[in-house]
Amino acid sequence: MNSLNDNVVTPRREETRVAIIGGGVAGLTLATLLRKSGVDCVVLERRDRAYVEQRQRAGVVEARGVDMFERWGLADQLLAGPVATTIDYRVNGVGRVFDAAAEGRKPSRFCTQQMLVNNLLHQLIDVMAGDVRFEVTGVTVRNDEESRPSVGFCDQGGAHELECDYIVGCDGDRGVSRASIPDGALTRYSYEFGYAWLAALVEAPVLGHAIMAVSDHGFVGQLPRGPQRSRYYLQCALSDGPEDWPDERLWDEIRLRLGDDSIANVKVHEKFFVPLRSVVYSPMRYRSLFLAGDVAHLVPPASAKGMNLALFDVDILAQALAGALQRDDTAGLDDYSDTCLRRVWNYQDFAVWMTDTMHDAGDPAQHGTFRQMTARARLGQLFSSPTAARLHTEYQLGLN
Ligand SMILES: Cc1cc2nc3c(=O)[nH]c(=O)nc-3n(C[C@H](O)[C@H](O)[C@H](O)COP(=O)(O)OP(=O)(O)OC[C@H]3O[C@@H](n4cnc5c(N)ncnc54)[C@H](O)[C@@H]3O)c2cc1C
Repeated sequence: MNSLNDNVVTPRREETRVAIIGGGVAGLTLATLLRKSGVDCVVLERRDRAYVEQRQRAGVVEARGVDMFERWGLADQLLAGPVATTIDYRVNGVGRVFDAAAEGRKPSRFCTQQMLVNNLLHQLIDVMAGDVRFEVTGVTVRNDEESRPSVGFCDQGGAHELECDYIVGCDGDRGVSRASIPDGALTRYSYEFGYAWLAALVEAPVLGHAIMAVSDHGFVGQLPRGPQRSRYYLQCALSDGPEDWPDERLWDEIRLRLGDDSIANVKVHEKFFVPLRSVVYSPMRYRSLFLAGDVAHLVPPASAKGMNLALFDVDILAQALAGALQRDDTAGLDDYSDTCLRRVWNYQDFAVWMTDTMHDAGDPAQHGTFRQMTARARLGQLFSSPTAARLHTEYQLGLN
Protein backbone atom coordinates (compact mmCIF):
# COMPACT_ATOMS: atom_id res chain seq x y z
CA MET A 1 0.00 0.00 0.00
CA ASN A 2 1.33 3.49 -0.87
CA SER A 3 2.01 5.79 2.03
CA LEU A 4 1.03 9.47 1.75
CA ASN A 5 4.75 10.38 1.60
CA ASP A 6 5.10 8.61 -1.78
CA ASN A 7 3.32 11.61 -3.34
CA VAL A 8 5.66 14.23 -1.85
CA VAL A 9 8.16 15.42 -4.50
CA THR A 10 11.57 16.33 -3.09
CA PRO A 11 12.88 19.30 -5.07
CA ARG A 12 16.25 18.95 -6.73
CA ARG A 13 18.72 21.11 -4.80
CA GLU A 14 20.88 23.48 -6.83
CA GLU A 15 23.16 26.39 -5.99
CA THR A 16 24.18 29.69 -7.52
CA ARG A 17 25.36 33.09 -6.25
CA VAL A 18 22.49 35.20 -7.63
CA ALA A 19 19.02 33.93 -8.57
CA ILE A 20 17.26 36.30 -10.98
CA ILE A 21 13.49 36.02 -11.36
CA GLY A 22 12.33 37.31 -14.77
CA GLY A 23 14.13 37.26 -18.12
CA GLY A 24 13.00 40.60 -19.55
CA VAL A 25 15.35 43.45 -20.33
CA ALA A 26 16.29 43.97 -16.63
CA GLY A 27 16.92 40.30 -15.78
CA LEU A 28 18.85 39.53 -18.98
CA THR A 29 21.00 42.65 -18.73
CA LEU A 30 21.80 41.95 -15.07
CA ALA A 31 22.74 38.34 -15.86
CA THR A 32 24.96 39.47 -18.74
CA LEU A 33 26.75 42.04 -16.56
CA LEU A 34 27.20 39.48 -13.76
CA ARG A 35 28.61 36.89 -16.19
CA LYS A 36 30.96 39.56 -17.50
CA SER A 37 32.07 40.16 -13.85
CA GLY A 38 32.58 36.44 -13.25
CA VAL A 39 29.58 36.10 -10.88
CA ASP A 40 27.55 32.91 -11.22
CA CYS A 41 23.80 33.46 -11.69
CA VAL A 42 20.65 31.76 -12.98
CA VAL A 43 17.70 33.47 -14.70
CA LEU A 44 14.22 32.00 -14.21
CA GLU A 45 11.72 33.06 -16.89
CA ARG A 46 8.12 31.87 -17.07
CA ARG A 47 7.74 32.34 -20.87
CA ASP A 48 9.50 30.42 -23.65
CA ARG A 49 12.46 31.92 -25.52
CA ALA A 50 10.46 32.60 -28.70
CA TYR A 51 7.91 34.66 -26.76
CA VAL A 52 10.60 36.74 -25.05
CA GLU A 53 12.31 37.29 -28.41
CA GLN A 54 9.25 38.71 -30.15
CA ARG A 55 7.87 40.96 -27.36
CA GLN A 56 7.98 44.53 -28.74
CA ARG A 57 7.95 47.56 -26.41
CA ALA A 58 10.44 50.40 -25.94
CA GLY A 59 12.31 52.04 -28.81
CA VAL A 60 15.18 54.16 -27.48
CA VAL A 61 18.26 53.42 -25.40
CA GLU A 62 19.14 56.80 -23.90
CA ALA A 63 22.70 58.17 -24.07
CA ARG A 64 23.42 57.08 -20.50
CA GLY A 65 22.49 53.52 -21.45
CA VAL A 66 24.78 53.70 -24.49
CA ASP A 67 27.62 54.88 -22.21
CA MET A 68 26.86 52.09 -19.77
CA PHE A 69 27.08 49.32 -22.41
CA GLU A 70 30.31 50.86 -23.70
CA ARG A 71 31.75 50.89 -20.17
CA TRP A 72 30.93 47.18 -19.83
CA GLY A 73 32.49 46.48 -23.25
CA LEU A 74 29.15 45.30 -24.63
CA ALA A 75 27.91 48.14 -26.86
CA ASP A 76 29.03 46.56 -30.14
CA GLN A 77 27.42 43.23 -29.27
CA LEU A 78 24.13 44.59 -27.88
CA LEU A 79 23.21 47.91 -29.44
CA ALA A 80 21.97 48.53 -32.96
CA GLY A 81 19.94 51.17 -34.75
CA PRO A 82 20.49 54.78 -35.78
CA VAL A 83 21.12 57.73 -33.46
CA ALA A 84 18.03 59.28 -31.89
CA THR A 85 18.40 62.98 -31.21
CA THR A 86 15.40 64.72 -32.72
CA ILE A 87 11.70 64.93 -31.82
CA ASP A 88 9.11 66.77 -33.88
CA TYR A 89 6.84 68.44 -31.30
CA ARG A 90 3.68 69.38 -33.24
CA VAL A 91 0.80 71.58 -32.20
CA ASN A 92 -2.31 71.28 -34.40
CA GLY A 93 -0.24 70.07 -37.34
CA VAL A 94 2.55 72.69 -37.04
CA GLY A 95 5.85 71.02 -36.23
CA ARG A 96 9.03 72.24 -34.51
CA VAL A 97 11.99 69.92 -34.30
CA PHE A 98 13.77 69.69 -30.94
CA ASP A 99 17.35 68.44 -31.13
CA ALA A 100 18.34 66.61 -27.93
CA ALA A 101 22.05 66.62 -28.67
CA ALA A 102 24.64 67.84 -26.18
CA GLU A 103 28.18 68.81 -26.97
CA GLY A 104 30.68 66.17 -25.91
CA ARG A 105 27.96 63.58 -25.20
CA LYS A 106 27.12 60.51 -27.18
CA PRO A 107 23.60 60.51 -28.61
CA SER A 108 20.78 58.14 -27.64
CA ARG A 109 20.08 55.26 -30.07
CA PHE A 110 16.91 53.97 -31.72
CA CYS A 111 17.53 50.44 -30.46
CA THR A 112 14.20 48.72 -29.87
CA GLN A 113 13.75 46.74 -26.68
CA GLN A 114 13.12 43.68 -28.86
CA MET A 115 16.45 44.16 -30.64
CA LEU A 116 18.28 44.63 -27.32
CA VAL A 117 16.60 41.58 -25.74
CA ASN A 118 17.44 39.42 -28.77
CA ASN A 119 21.06 40.53 -28.62
CA LEU A 120 21.16 39.90 -24.84
CA LEU A 121 19.76 36.38 -25.28
CA HIS A 122 22.35 35.60 -27.94
CA GLN A 123 25.23 37.08 -25.93
CA LEU A 124 24.21 35.55 -22.60
CA ILE A 125 23.18 32.07 -23.73
CA ASP A 126 24.97 31.40 -27.01
CA VAL A 127 28.23 33.29 -26.39
CA MET A 128 28.68 33.32 -22.57
CA ALA A 129 26.95 29.98 -21.88
CA GLY A 130 24.75 31.69 -19.27
CA ASP A 131 22.07 29.74 -17.43
CA VAL A 132 18.55 30.87 -18.42
CA ARG A 133 15.66 28.54 -17.60
CA PHE A 134 12.58 29.24 -19.72
CA GLU A 135 8.99 28.13 -19.05
CA VAL A 136 9.44 27.77 -15.31
CA THR A 137 6.30 27.67 -13.17
CA GLY A 138 5.38 27.97 -9.50
CA VAL A 139 8.25 30.32 -8.57
CA THR A 140 8.46 30.87 -4.79
CA VAL A 141 10.86 33.01 -2.78
CA ARG A 142 12.47 32.04 0.53
CA ASN A 143 14.03 35.11 2.09
CA ASP A 144 13.94 34.81 5.87
CA GLU A 145 16.56 35.12 8.61
CA GLU A 146 16.64 31.40 9.45
CA SER A 147 18.07 29.93 6.25
CA ARG A 148 20.06 30.69 3.12
CA PRO A 149 17.91 32.50 0.49
CA SER A 150 16.42 30.24 -2.16
CA VAL A 151 13.97 30.20 -5.03
CA GLY A 152 11.70 27.25 -5.68
CA PHE A 153 10.40 26.53 -9.18
CA CYS A 154 9.25 23.75 -11.49
CA ASP A 155 10.25 22.95 -15.04
CA GLN A 156 9.91 19.94 -17.31
CA GLY A 157 12.52 18.14 -15.19
CA GLY A 158 10.44 18.55 -12.02
CA ALA A 159 10.73 20.67 -8.88
CA HIS A 160 13.91 22.60 -8.01
CA GLU A 161 15.19 24.55 -5.01
CA LEU A 162 17.83 27.04 -6.06
CA GLU A 163 19.91 28.20 -3.09
CA CYS A 164 21.79 31.46 -3.51
CA ASP A 165 23.39 34.42 -1.76
CA TYR A 166 21.04 37.00 -3.25
CA ILE A 167 17.73 37.02 -5.12
CA VAL A 168 16.89 39.72 -7.65
CA GLY A 169 13.27 40.31 -8.67
CA CYS A 170 13.16 41.44 -12.31
CA ASP A 171 9.70 40.01 -12.95
CA GLY A 172 7.79 43.17 -13.83
CA ASP A 173 4.77 44.71 -12.18
CA ARG A 174 2.80 41.49 -11.79
CA GLY A 175 5.55 39.09 -10.77
CA VAL A 176 6.02 37.03 -7.63
CA SER A 177 9.15 38.61 -6.14
CA ARG A 178 7.57 41.81 -4.81
CA ALA A 179 4.48 39.83 -3.76
CA SER A 180 6.73 37.70 -1.50
CA ILE A 181 7.61 40.77 0.63
CA PRO A 182 5.48 41.08 3.79
CA ASP A 183 2.79 43.77 3.85
CA GLY A 184 4.07 47.01 5.31
CA ALA A 185 7.74 46.47 4.41
CA LEU A 186 7.47 48.62 1.26
CA THR A 187 5.66 51.90 0.64
CA ARG A 188 3.74 52.17 -2.63
CA TYR A 189 3.52 55.67 -4.17
CA SER A 190 1.28 56.00 -7.22
CA TYR A 191 -0.47 58.46 -9.50
CA GLU A 192 -3.19 57.75 -12.09
CA PHE A 193 -3.37 60.20 -15.00
CA GLY A 194 -7.00 59.29 -15.77
CA TYR A 195 -6.60 58.36 -19.44
CA ALA A 196 -4.94 55.69 -21.56
CA TRP A 197 -2.94 55.25 -24.75
CA LEU A 198 -3.93 53.05 -27.63
CA ALA A 199 -0.64 51.62 -28.97
CA ALA A 200 -0.77 50.48 -32.62
CA LEU A 201 2.20 48.83 -34.35
CA VAL A 202 1.89 49.54 -38.09
CA GLU A 203 3.70 48.59 -41.30
CA ALA A 204 5.06 52.07 -42.03
CA PRO A 205 8.37 53.63 -40.99
CA VAL A 206 8.63 57.08 -39.45
CA LEU A 207 9.46 59.48 -42.28
CA GLY A 208 11.79 62.10 -40.83
CA HIS A 209 11.67 62.65 -37.08
CA ALA A 210 9.89 60.87 -34.23
CA ILE A 211 6.63 62.76 -33.65
CA MET A 212 4.94 63.85 -30.42
CA ALA A 213 1.82 65.76 -31.46
CA VAL A 214 -0.55 67.88 -29.45
CA SER A 215 -3.92 68.61 -31.03
CA ASP A 216 -7.33 69.91 -30.01
CA HIS A 217 -8.56 66.34 -30.63
CA GLY A 218 -6.04 64.69 -28.30
CA PHE A 219 -2.46 63.45 -28.32
CA VAL A 220 -0.88 61.27 -31.03
CA GLY A 221 2.75 60.17 -31.29
CA GLN A 222 4.63 58.19 -33.91
CA LEU A 223 7.90 56.50 -32.92
CA PRO A 224 10.26 54.27 -34.95
CA ARG A 225 10.14 50.52 -34.36
CA GLY A 226 12.75 49.28 -36.84
CA PRO A 227 13.33 50.16 -40.50
CA GLN A 228 9.88 49.14 -41.78
CA ARG A 229 7.58 49.75 -38.83
CA SER A 230 6.48 52.39 -36.37
CA ARG A 231 4.20 52.62 -33.39
CA TYR A 232 1.41 55.17 -33.13
CA TYR A 233 0.18 56.12 -29.67
CA LEU A 234 -3.21 57.79 -29.36
CA GLN A 235 -4.71 59.26 -26.21
CA CYS A 236 -7.98 57.49 -25.46
CA ALA A 237 -10.40 56.86 -22.60
CA LEU A 238 -9.46 54.43 -19.84
CA SER A 239 -12.59 52.42 -20.65
CA ASP A 240 -11.75 52.08 -24.40
CA GLY A 241 -11.16 48.62 -25.86
CA PRO A 242 -10.52 47.10 -29.31
CA GLU A 243 -14.24 47.34 -30.24
CA ASP A 244 -14.01 51.16 -29.91
CA TRP A 245 -11.03 51.38 -32.25
CA PRO A 246 -11.54 49.58 -35.59
CA ASP A 247 -8.71 50.31 -38.07
CA GLU A 248 -10.83 52.84 -39.98
CA ARG A 249 -11.29 54.99 -36.86
CA LEU A 250 -7.60 54.60 -35.94
CA TRP A 251 -6.43 56.05 -39.26
CA ASP A 252 -9.10 58.80 -39.30
CA GLU A 253 -7.95 59.92 -35.84
CA ILE A 254 -4.25 59.79 -36.81
CA ARG A 255 -4.91 62.01 -39.84
CA LEU A 256 -7.08 64.38 -37.78
CA ARG A 257 -4.65 64.70 -34.86
CA LEU A 258 -1.58 65.10 -37.09
CA GLY A 259 -3.43 67.47 -39.42
CA ASP A 260 -2.21 65.40 -42.37
CA ASP A 261 -4.73 64.02 -44.88
CA SER A 262 -2.00 62.34 -46.92
CA ILE A 263 -1.43 59.50 -44.43
CA ALA A 264 -2.62 56.22 -45.94
CA ASN A 265 -4.19 53.28 -44.08
CA VAL A 266 -1.58 50.48 -43.88
CA LYS A 267 -1.44 47.13 -42.14
CA VAL A 268 -1.90 47.28 -38.36
CA HIS A 269 0.03 44.42 -36.68
CA GLU A 270 -1.23 44.83 -33.13
CA LYS A 271 -3.23 47.16 -30.93
CA PHE A 272 -3.22 47.31 -27.17
CA PHE A 273 -4.24 49.75 -24.45
CA VAL A 274 -1.97 51.17 -21.74
CA PRO A 275 -3.45 53.05 -18.76
CA LEU A 276 -1.13 55.96 -17.97
CA ARG A 277 0.15 55.67 -14.41
CA SER A 278 3.24 56.25 -12.29
CA VAL A 279 4.20 53.88 -9.47
CA VAL A 280 7.20 53.68 -7.12
CA TYR A 281 7.89 51.05 -4.44
CA SER A 282 10.32 52.02 -1.70
CA PRO A 283 12.77 50.70 -0.62
CA MET A 284 13.90 48.51 -3.55
CA ARG A 285 15.25 45.86 -1.19
CA TYR A 286 13.95 43.47 1.44
CA ARG A 287 16.64 41.43 3.25
CA SER A 288 18.46 39.43 0.52
CA LEU A 289 15.90 40.27 -2.20
CA PHE A 290 16.55 43.25 -4.51
CA LEU A 291 14.00 44.69 -6.94
CA ALA A 292 15.01 46.07 -10.36
CA GLY A 293 13.02 47.48 -13.28
CA ASP A 294 9.23 47.56 -13.61
CA VAL A 295 8.75 45.50 -10.45
CA ALA A 296 9.99 48.55 -8.50
CA HIS A 297 8.71 51.46 -10.61
CA LEU A 298 6.44 52.24 -13.56
CA VAL A 299 6.54 55.44 -15.61
CA PRO A 300 3.97 56.42 -18.26
CA PRO A 301 5.31 55.68 -21.77
CA ALA A 302 5.19 59.38 -22.78
CA SER A 303 8.54 59.71 -21.02
CA ALA A 304 10.14 56.70 -22.82
CA LYS A 305 12.06 55.93 -19.63
CA GLY A 306 10.82 52.57 -18.27
CA MET A 307 13.44 50.42 -19.99
CA ASN A 308 16.11 53.03 -19.35
CA LEU A 309 15.40 53.11 -15.61
CA ALA A 310 15.61 49.30 -15.60
CA LEU A 311 19.05 49.51 -17.27
CA PHE A 312 20.25 51.99 -14.65
CA ASP A 313 19.05 49.76 -11.77
CA VAL A 314 20.88 46.69 -13.03
CA ASP A 315 24.05 48.62 -13.84
CA ILE A 316 24.24 49.76 -10.18
CA LEU A 317 23.15 46.35 -8.86
CA ALA A 318 25.63 44.32 -10.94
CA GLN A 319 28.52 46.39 -9.56
CA ALA A 320 27.16 46.15 -6.00
CA LEU A 321 26.66 42.36 -6.21
CA ALA A 322 30.16 41.87 -7.59
CA GLY A 323 31.53 44.01 -4.71
CA ALA A 324 29.67 41.94 -2.11
CA LEU A 325 30.42 38.52 -3.60
CA GLN A 326 33.99 39.06 -4.76
CA ARG A 327 35.40 41.60 -2.27
CA ASP A 328 33.10 41.14 0.71
CA ASP A 329 32.16 44.81 0.36
CA THR A 330 28.42 45.28 0.89
CA ALA A 331 28.41 49.11 0.75
CA GLY A 332 27.04 49.11 -2.80
CA LEU A 333 24.18 46.82 -1.83
CA ASP A 334 23.42 48.97 1.22
CA ASP A 335 23.22 52.07 -1.00
CA TYR A 336 21.42 50.39 -3.92
CA SER A 337 17.88 51.44 -3.11
CA ASP A 338 18.72 55.07 -2.27
CA THR A 339 20.95 55.43 -5.35
CA CYS A 340 18.23 54.14 -7.69
CA LEU A 341 15.31 55.89 -6.04
CA ARG A 342 17.02 59.31 -6.32
CA ARG A 343 17.08 58.82 -10.07
CA VAL A 344 13.64 57.19 -10.24
CA TRP A 345 12.03 60.25 -8.62
CA ASN A 346 13.84 62.61 -11.04
CA TYR A 347 12.45 60.63 -13.95
CA GLN A 348 9.00 60.33 -12.40
CA ASP A 349 9.03 64.14 -12.35
CA PHE A 350 10.13 64.22 -16.01
CA ALA A 351 7.42 61.68 -16.90
CA VAL A 352 4.74 63.82 -15.22
CA TRP A 353 6.08 66.88 -17.09
CA MET A 354 5.96 65.08 -20.45
CA THR A 355 2.60 63.43 -19.86
CA ASP A 356 0.82 66.52 -18.50
CA THR A 357 2.34 68.81 -21.12
CA MET A 358 1.50 66.62 -24.12
CA HIS A 359 -2.07 65.95 -22.97
CA ASP A 360 -3.08 69.18 -21.23
CA ALA A 361 -1.87 71.17 -24.25
CA GLY A 362 -4.20 69.18 -26.51
CA ASP A 363 -7.87 68.44 -26.02
CA PRO A 364 -9.30 71.19 -23.74
CA ALA A 365 -11.76 68.62 -22.37
CA GLN A 366 -8.69 67.38 -20.46
CA HIS A 367 -8.19 70.19 -17.97
CA GLY A 368 -9.81 73.23 -19.61
CA THR A 369 -8.57 75.98 -21.92
CA PHE A 370 -6.49 77.76 -19.23
CA ARG A 371 -4.34 74.68 -18.61
CA GLN A 372 -4.25 74.08 -22.38
CA MET A 373 -2.62 77.48 -22.88
CA THR A 374 -0.12 77.12 -19.99
CA ALA A 375 0.91 73.68 -21.28
CA ARG A 376 1.44 75.11 -24.78
CA ALA A 377 3.54 77.92 -23.26
CA ARG A 378 5.61 75.29 -21.41
CA LEU A 379 6.19 73.40 -24.65
CA GLY A 380 7.10 76.67 -26.41
CA GLN A 381 9.81 77.33 -23.80
CA LEU A 382 11.78 74.40 -25.19
CA PHE A 383 12.30 76.45 -28.35
CA SER A 384 12.72 79.92 -26.81
CA SER A 385 14.69 79.29 -23.60
CA PRO A 386 18.16 77.70 -23.83
CA THR A 387 17.84 76.90 -20.11
CA ALA A 388 14.59 74.96 -20.60
CA ALA A 389 16.04 73.27 -23.69
CA ARG A 390 19.15 72.22 -21.81
CA LEU A 391 17.22 70.62 -18.96
CA HIS A 392 14.98 68.81 -21.46
CA THR A 393 18.05 67.54 -23.31
CA GLU A 394 19.58 66.26 -20.07
CA TYR A 395 16.41 64.31 -19.33
CA GLN A 396 16.19 62.94 -22.87
CA LEU A 397 19.81 61.75 -22.68
CA GLY A 398 19.32 60.26 -19.21
CA LEU A 399 21.87 62.47 -17.46
CA ASN A 400 19.82 63.41 -14.35
C1 LIG B 1 3.55 50.25 -24.83
C2 LIG B 1 4.82 50.43 -24.07
C3 LIG B 1 5.77 51.31 -24.57
C4 LIG B 1 6.95 51.51 -23.89
N1 LIG B 1 7.85 52.39 -24.41
C5 LIG B 1 9.00 52.60 -23.75
C6 LIG B 1 9.99 53.48 -24.30
O1 LIG B 1 9.81 54.07 -25.38
N2 LIG B 1 11.14 53.64 -23.61
C7 LIG B 1 11.39 52.99 -22.44
O2 LIG B 1 12.48 53.17 -21.85
N3 LIG B 1 10.48 52.15 -21.91
C8 LIG B 1 9.30 51.94 -22.53
N4 LIG B 1 8.38 51.07 -22.01
C9 LIG B 1 8.65 50.43 -20.72
C10 LIG B 1 9.53 49.20 -20.85
O3 LIG B 1 9.02 48.32 -21.82
C11 LIG B 1 9.61 48.52 -19.48
O4 LIG B 1 9.97 49.48 -18.52
C12 LIG B 1 10.61 47.36 -19.48
O5 LIG B 1 10.10 46.27 -20.20
C13 LIG B 1 10.93 46.93 -18.05
O6 LIG B 1 11.77 45.80 -18.09
P1 LIG B 1 11.68 44.69 -16.97
O7 LIG B 1 12.70 43.67 -17.34
O8 LIG B 1 11.68 45.32 -15.64
O9 LIG B 1 10.21 44.06 -17.13
P2 LIG B 1 9.66 43.14 -18.31
O10 LIG B 1 10.24 43.55 -19.60
O11 LIG B 1 8.17 43.18 -18.14
O12 LIG B 1 10.19 41.70 -17.96
C14 LIG B 1 9.70 40.96 -16.86
C15 LIG B 1 9.91 39.48 -17.15
O13 LIG B 1 9.56 38.70 -16.01
C16 LIG B 1 8.85 37.55 -16.43
N5 LIG B 1 8.03 37.10 -15.31
C17 LIG B 1 6.92 37.67 -14.80
N6 LIG B 1 6.45 36.95 -13.76
C18 LIG B 1 7.29 35.89 -13.62
C19 LIG B 1 7.33 34.79 -12.73
N7 LIG B 1 6.40 34.63 -11.78
N8 LIG B 1 8.32 33.89 -12.86
C20 LIG B 1 9.28 34.03 -13.81
N9 LIG B 1 9.29 35.07 -14.69
C21 LIG B 1 8.30 35.98 -14.60
C22 LIG B 1 8.04 38.06 -17.62
O14 LIG B 1 7.61 37.02 -18.47
C23 LIG B 1 9.05 38.99 -18.30
O15 LIG B 1 9.84 38.30 -19.24
C24 LIG B 1 7.19 50.84 -22.67
C25 LIG B 1 6.25 49.94 -22.18
C26 LIG B 1 5.07 49.74 -22.86
C27 LIG B 1 4.06 48.76 -22.31
